[in-house]
Amino acid sequence: EFTRTKTIKQQREYLPIYSVREELLKAVGESKVLIISGETGSGKTTQLTQYLYESDYASHGNGMIGCTQPRRVAAVSVAKRVAEEIGCELGQEVGYSIRFEDCTTKNTRIKYMTDGVLLRESLNDPDLEQYSCIIMDEAHERSLNTDVLFGILKKVAQRRRDIKIIITSATMNSRKFSDFFDGASIFEIPGRTFPVGIRFDKAAAEDYVDAAVKKALQVHIQEPPGDILIFMTGQEDIEVTCLLLAEKIASQETIPPITILPIYSQLRSDDQAKIFESSKQRKCIVATNIAETSLTLDGVRYVIDTGYCKIKVYNPKIGMDALQITPISQANANQRSGRAGRTGPGICYRLYSDTNFRSDMLENNIPEIQRTNLANVVLLLKSLNIDDLLQFDFMDPPPQETILNSMYQLWLLGCLDEAGSITDLGRKMAQFPLDPPLTKMLITADELGCTEEILTIVSMLSVPSVFYRPKGREEESDAVREKLLISESDHLTLLNVYEQWKKNDYSGQWCSDHFIQVKTLRKVREVRSQLKDIAKQQNLKLTSCNYDYDLVRKAICSAYFTHAAKIKSIGEYTNLRTAMPCRVHPSSALFTLGHAPDYVVYHELIMTTKEYMSCVTSVDPKWLEEMGPMFFSVKEYYGHRRDRSQ
Ligand code: ADP
Ligand code: MG
Repeated sequence: EFTRTKTIKQQREYLPIYSVREELLKAVGESKVLIISGETGSGKTTQLTQYLYESDYASHGNGMIGCTQPRRVAAVSVAKRVAEEIGCELGQEVGYSIRFEDCTTKNTRIKYMTDGVLLRESLNDPDLEQYSCIIMDEAHERSLNTDVLFGILKKVAQRRRDIKIIITSATMNSRKFSDFFDGASIFEIPGRTFPVGIRFDKAAAEDYVDAAVKKALQVHIQEPPGDILIFMTGQEDIEVTCLLLAEKIASQETIPPITILPIYSQLRSDDQAKIFESSKQRKCIVATNIAETSLTLDGVRYVIDTGYCKIKVYNPKIGMDALQITPISQANANQRSGRAGRTGPGICYRLYSDTNFRSDMLENNIPEIQRTNLANVVLLLKSLNIDDLLQFDFMDPPPQETILNSMYQLWLLGCLDEAGSITDLGRKMAQFPLDPPLTKMLITADELGCTEEILTIVSMLSVPSVFYRPKGREEESDAVREKLLISESDHLTLLNVYEQWKKNDYSGQWCSDHFIQVKTLRKVREVRSQLKDIAKQQNLKLTSCNYDYDLVRKAICSAYFTHAAKIKSIGEYTNLRTAMPCRVHPSSALFTLGHAPDYVVYHELIMTTKEYMSCVTSVDPKWLEEMGPMFFSVKEYYGHRRDRSQ
């Protein structure tokens, strides 16, 4: 209602941050590093950049105002909103940059970007000279890249006299940030929130999707107007929830209609924008923890909190990160309930008990840097000539073992030498915005003469799955899909899909005929052309192997030789490094076409009740041997390093 009747100027002036605009700018003027804390929705993300812009922090070649976000969705949606508020076309004065998508021009003064993008920029511009101000937004999320940026920006602030660094956070952790930046001042934006009633369940739900659907239905039928926000774990759970809820509502005719809206990071951006559109009927938004603080939704009066989220966790057993559904922390739970009290008093339904909250949930999240693989970060820091990682200024240092594990992986790939210093190959690899194994695949492809093919495969692996199975037409789509499969390799299947599409003039019709997401394939094409540019800059030769697919499989093997498995019996493999049993995932071409080669490599493991290899390619054991020291264990590597340093 408010957004429809008030002008943009009135909306901006209504935000809590507006009442402290002058003091805030004064505080920025007086300090090099400033911590700003305020409730979600107070206007930090959308207003701060504009205030700085209006006060000439970005005029006359002074550089840009950069604002980092831990999430891609947030960077894009906020940039859109601010462009609208300023009244410019997106990409002009206000733009955004996320991996593989740069929507900025030479006119851009306010740039929203993911923290990963800024981190990469620091590779080639260590003092971040392009920027007059850098806002590290949503710092409380403690994403991996944000945590690394903390250390880097602290150094930049010491070297550059003319830079302003602002750290913003929801109302937690500000003291910790201030301590890290040598006692930087904290500016608090006064809050304007309404009381939220908390309703615990008697016990944790057995099936949280089911419980959330029931609760949403009950709220919709019994409670006065106001939107519902459900916190779910990830895309699959969100889709099921939306479907079940829609079915339940459709089956009961007397219920008023409701608009059901999913939101998660892989959702198409025009679908994402729908959550901000006004609606006459009640909205029910089903979200990941992106809606906790990154996106501000007005009009929510009811929050349904499942108590879970999906996070990336390093699994030492399998030697890689895996997404895991985990209980949230108490801090998350409180942020979630706060979403119900933005525009009026609200209610938060927690699908777990008071006891669960007090005894099963940690007080705060474990920062990502302490629970994920650091290969990317280590490579980046090494190429910034930060050699002794154990001495790097981390707010919360990662476990030493994780650092050493990541170094071991990089050493296997040839990015580090035996003394742990970066190699020429490592420097080259750091220039690619990809996980090290994927970059390695590209570089080997250069040696083998199949870069064109590997560029396609790597691009296909960098987007969500291109296949879809519409409900009710599963068999039909499976049959069509089967014709595109290449029996010995899912990677070659991905290549084949792209090549067929290209042969058909990149046609949309071809995609819908083959149950393939055209938008995703177009994205692949874009990613591919960007990677191709970087490959050219790095002097890789752009060559095709002319259907000599053994070369392609060999390049794939060079990247994944640590992810190799040997057949044990029908359907069963043994992981060569960990000796653990694993299977080919049913979505694989090898599974579908009943192909069971002796040796395979895989892109990742999916953990359910069993371990499944996903995206699998058959390989020649000779290639695996050539790849070198794969039976050299992490332990031996440590020993080796220790010997050398003595
Ligand atoms: P904070 O960063 O302090 O949580 P924001 O600056 O994100 O606050 O949000 C301030 C206000 O801007 C919100 O209350 C909301 O009304 C509005 N807003 C933010 N993003 C959008 C958007 N994409 N579309 C419409 N309104 C938005
Ligand atoms: Mg914000």
